[in-house]
Amino acid sequence: AKSQGKNRYVVYTSDLLSNSIEELQLETDLRKALENNEFILHYQPQVCNKSEKIVGAEALIRWNHPKFGLIYPDKFIKIAEETGLITQIGEWVIEQACIQNKKWQDSGMKSIKIAVNLSAQQFFKRNLVGIVKKVLDHTGLDPEYLVLEITESMAMDFDYSLKVLRQLKNLGICISIDDFGTGYSSLSYLKKFPIDYLKIDRSFVKDMMEDHNDVNIVKAIITLAHNLRLEVIAEGVETKEQLNFLKKYQCDKIQGYLFSKPIPSEQFEQFYASLQKN
Ligand code: C2E
Ligand code: CA
Ligand code: CA
Ligand code: CA
Repeated sequence: AKSQGKNRYVVYTSDLLSNSIEELQLETDLRKALENNEFILHYQPQVCNKSEKIVGAEALIRWNHPKFGLIYPDKFIKIAEETGLITQIGEWVIEQACIQNKKWQDSGMKSIKIAVNLSAQQFFKRNLVGIVKKVLDHTGLDPEYLVLEITESMAMDFDYSLKVLRQLKNLGICISIDDFGTGYSSLSYLKKFPIDYLKIDRSFVKDMMEDHNDVNIVKAIITLAHNLRLEVIAEGVETKEQLNFLKKYQCDKIQGYLFSKPIPSEQFEQFYASLQKN
């Protein structure tokens, strides 16, 4: 069994997923997962480069399947997208993340930003802005503490995306470009879209210390972002060397196993408390 990395639960799920009957089973089960309360969010800390304090968290969904145990998003997001269930699931994620962040703030924890992944389907659905507004209203979370992570694929319909992003910005929330550099879109949207953050994809960070090209890409992304007055977050930071390099080049925030894997909320609270002390 692999002990590390994204595929660490492959041992439990690969058999079932190579089997189309059981994949169908997953699809059937997915339809009931929301009402059966089987989803759970894990939170991965985002640490400020300068202060080394936790300033944010990315909410990442997991499915607590009654038979197969914890299933990771790589195994079910695609099915959720194909079946259209992703919009409902995605709404649940936004709401849950906002509820949790508000709870943390009310408990006296210093305010941090909560980042939520948006699937393209959610983004291109007409009522996204209304949904986000509704969630902010009824959770009472200050909008500046919600970040929506979108991908470059959402820049394809330029006019539509610009309109939606402006409306989202008007609510007061933050926008982050996830997996930056891995999409096929041009960079021209960067000038026009109201964006706050670029997230350097893990694939660039991963081989940074060995691969000259990746080092240069990372440096270029940081420079580009800063010239555009955006902040940069590096994801998938696993080693001290990577951290030191990213510090040297003034990457603003760091996210990765070096600090913590995505963890349940109670564990996040403990981790947060332990870091604030020293
Ligand atoms: P992502 O948005 O790029 O999220 C980062 C992924 O990298 C997470 O995997 C996280 O656990 C993993 N990761 C973080 N730091 C490290 C590290 O240092 N090393 C390694 N090897 N991996 C690291 P996860 O949680 O399995 O999520 C996979 C993808 O599923 C996410 O990629 C995102 O695209 C999608 N996803 C997760 N939650 C949601 C959600 O609520 N809605 C939607 N639409 N997609 C989601
Ligand atoms: Ca993400
Ligand atoms: Ca990412
Ligand atoms: Ca990624």
